[in-house]
Amino acid sequence: MFMDKYEQLAKLICPDVNITIADLETKFPPRNLNENAKVTRFAPSPTGFLHTGSLFASFVASKLAYDSNGVFYLRIEDTDTKREVKDSIKTLVEQLSLFNIKINEGYGIGGNYGPYIQSERSFIYNTVIYDMICKGLAYPCFCSQDELDKVREIQTANKERPGYYGKYAKCRNLTVDEAISKIKNGEPYVVRFKSTGNFENHINFHDQIRGDLNLSENDLDIVIRKSDGLPTYHFAHVCDDHFMHTTDVIRGEEWLPSVPIHVQLFKALNFPLPNYAHVPVIMKNDNGNRRKLSKRLDPEASVFYFVEKGYPTEALLIYLCTIANSNYEEFRLTTNNDNIDDFKLSYDKFSLDGALFDLEKINNISKDIIFKTPIDTLVDKVINWAKMYDNKLFDLINIDTEMFKKIMNFGKEDLQPRKDYYKYSDIYEHINYMYKEEYDNLICEETNYDKNLISKVCQLFKNDLLSKEPINKDTWFNHQKDIARNIGFAYNKKDMRDNNFAYMFSDYMAIIRLSLTKRKNAFDLVDIITTIGIDEVIRRLDLFI
Ligand code: GLU
Repeated sequence: MFMDKYEQLAKLICPDVNITIADLETKFPPRNLNENAKVTRFAPSPTGFLHTGSLFASFVASKLAYDSNGVFYLRIEDTDTKREVKDSIKTLVEQLSLFNIKINEGYGIGGNYGPYIQSERSFIYNTVIYDMICKGLAYPCFCSQDELDKVREIQTANKERPGYYGKYAKCRNLTVDEAISKIKNGEPYVVRFKSTGNFENHINFHDQIRGDLNLSENDLDIVIRKSDGLPTYHFAHVCDDHFMHTTDVIRGEEWLPSVPIHVQLFKALNFPLPNYAHVPVIMKNDNGNRRKLSKRLDPEASVFYFVEKGYPTEALLIYLCTIANSNYEEFRLTTNNDNIDDFKLSYDKFSLDGALFDLEKINNISKDIIFKTPIDTLVDKVINWAKMYDNKLFDLINIDTEMFKKIMNFGKEDLQPRKDYYKYSDIYEHINYMYKEEYDNLICEETNYDKNLISKVCQLFKNDLLSKEPINKDTWFNHQKDIARNIGFAYNKKDMRDNNFAYMFSDYMAIIRLSLTKRKNAFDLVDIITTIGIDEVIRRLDLFI
């Protein structure tokens, strides 16, 4: 069979290819979806934990697919073997599910457009590369790292743009025969795209979030297949998002400068260009300086931070939704609806300047969510969390789960309801004194009250407790005021001045609180007393007396 030279070269570079792009198109037909349905994806590289910024991008992508009855799929981009971190695929998948990111198809799930991990997709990349070489759209490059470094030095000295382009793209001028003989000689090579672009030209590009942009055309002969035979990100992105029929490529803003390369590749391959949406990078206010949330500097750059601290996952998603769409916060407040599914995310409500990360806001949302969670659900969630991340709390709950439930309910019905916890890891410190076992080991907070005074107050309180009927929350307070006054605690400031009292009723309460909890701030005393029981109250008072 006659094979032209280009085809011979292609065969040499991709010896295993036995199908065509047309075959791939048949294998991966267009999806059968409604006209407006979005097909989006999350395409993490397995280089470590799930970054908070990646959770943001995946949240946006999954939400837009969900809102349009489309498809959100997971694709693992593992072509950078040097940066790969062991087990990170497993961690990524676990963390996505922990945050309730709804994945419809892809890695670990399956679907008609797989394999969903790039290292198993070489037959696709090579089929496309074969075709590109045959058409003169790609060529092998034999330049060594040393040669490339030299080119860069010259470009820097001449104040020129760095890169493999124009006169610097040496190997694009090799004849096919030369290339064939170099490969046959065993010279290592990469495959490059032969760009027809001119950097002086501009292209118009519409980003779904950033609007109309005018960018310089690409003229770089970028590497599409590395010497290890794996594709580069640029090339794999174009092949995968084409054959998986992604309608909207939603990814971090750091990819925006690469758009001209991608646009050109899509065009050269005659693949329709998908929509692009570049989501803002999450920034952090670092002593007045705005900078990117950093893996190295900021623990909250990893979603694990929120898991470990015990933030309800929906709180973080609600927060991410507020930074995604400026109208979401108002929706949530006016409808009093925390179900994100009921809000439709839209491109045109995106804020453009990098989203500023605000831990205080997350805390407030989280506090509110914890407060609103029905008690049984909350207790279950806390138990599950504590089992993994907080042994001390887990042990406490196991001593008396009913009591724990009661404690978690304290103050919920008050006129000004108590919202004590930002996150589950706040709970232990807040409640430990309620448990006898913990109380005995706690060190009492410092106090200025005289020992005799403390003893006197505790004695009085104890006697009263023993002589009274069950505690009535409505009258208890006033009753205490009266008995406290008998031993010299004034009702109020005026009473104090007029009668020359040394202490106020608040001092009396502070002493009782201290003796029952060993701390200055605690839950409502009636709640404490009725929960731990009279016997335990007496025992604690006796210790102080
Ligand atoms: N693997 C790329 C990354 O982790 C994906 C970018 C994209 O979504 O296209 O940054």
